[in-house]
Amino acid sequence: MTVLAVDVGGTTIKGAVASQDGQILHTLTTPSEADANPVQAVRSLCVRLRDDAVRLGAAPAAIGVVTPGLVDEDEGVVKYAANLHFRDVPLRKLIGDDLGLPVAVGHDVRAAGVAEAVASGLDDFLLLPLGTGIAAAVVVRGIPLPGATRAAGEVGHMPVYPGGEPCSCGQQGCLEVYASAGGLARRYARLGGASGLDSRAIAAALPDDPVARTVWDDATRALGTALATLTLTLDPARIVLGGGLADAGDLFFDPVRAALSAALAWRPAPLLARSVFGARAALVGAAILARREAGLAVPDGWGADGVQPG
Ligand SMILES: [Zn+2]
Repeated sequence: MTVLAVDVGGTTIKGAVASQDGQILHTLTTPSEADANPVQAVRSLCVRLRDDAVRLGAAPAAIGVVTPGLVDEDEGVVKYAANLHFRDVPLRKLIGDDLGLPVAVGHDVRAAGVAEAVASGLDDFLLLPLGTGIAAAVVVRGIPLPGATRAAGEVGHMPVYPGGEPCSCGQQGCLEVYASAGGLARRYARLGGASGLDSRAIAAALPDDPVARTVWDDATRALGTALATLTLTLDPARIVLGGGLADAGDLFFDPVRAALSAALAWRPAPLLARSVFGARAALVGAAILARREAGLAVPDGWGADGVQPG
């Protein structure tokens, strides 16, 4: 039995047809602004994806749809997603009516945490994609915590430099101002670096660009400090980092590991690892949610084969 998976982002909506053994058989991507009504853009993509699957002879058993924002997985409702202009959108009902299939609605980062949990077999860990912003999947005993108001894991707005630089959220000194891929690029430009460089180009400029060195060191120190707080609170077995900055490899991981260890005097730091799935984690997570919704088994390692990070 196949399932459909859809990852709704602020820029693009990604869809995939996943086979019984976790292979991606087909993908479909559309801009989030493809329709003047972003909810309609999601619904249209889901219908096209279902039709494609049927054409491939791979009729689906269920669909999983994940979005950012405040998501009530139990009700299947996206309460609020600023970038998507979603407010109280009953996605499960809308897509269920369109497709006549069981629908699982999830949060993108928590779904990514589900994918990493299935891939790694770990029960207690943190997953932090370091992209435009920073959110975390806080996985405790195999379940990503949603929190009392569905806002758990918003670690990008942890204050790491009290009284520091302003964040778009209205606070000052938030982690993501310094240590998200987007924040790093903005600080680099603001501090006088060459214009238009992204986090990858800044990493490449480190050997002979003092501005790049400054923002890089601030980023790794900020993240190491934040991870120390999270480690002391949650005692994770592993901290998994994904997104643009994790792509820099040792250049990024070594100083973050050093900052984390330096902030933990009396206990060892948990292992720091790179995400198995990269940018596809949320999509694989959506497929896993769909399989669970359809009552299909999800064996350890499902979806991890043949997935290219990025
Ligand atoms: Zn903030």
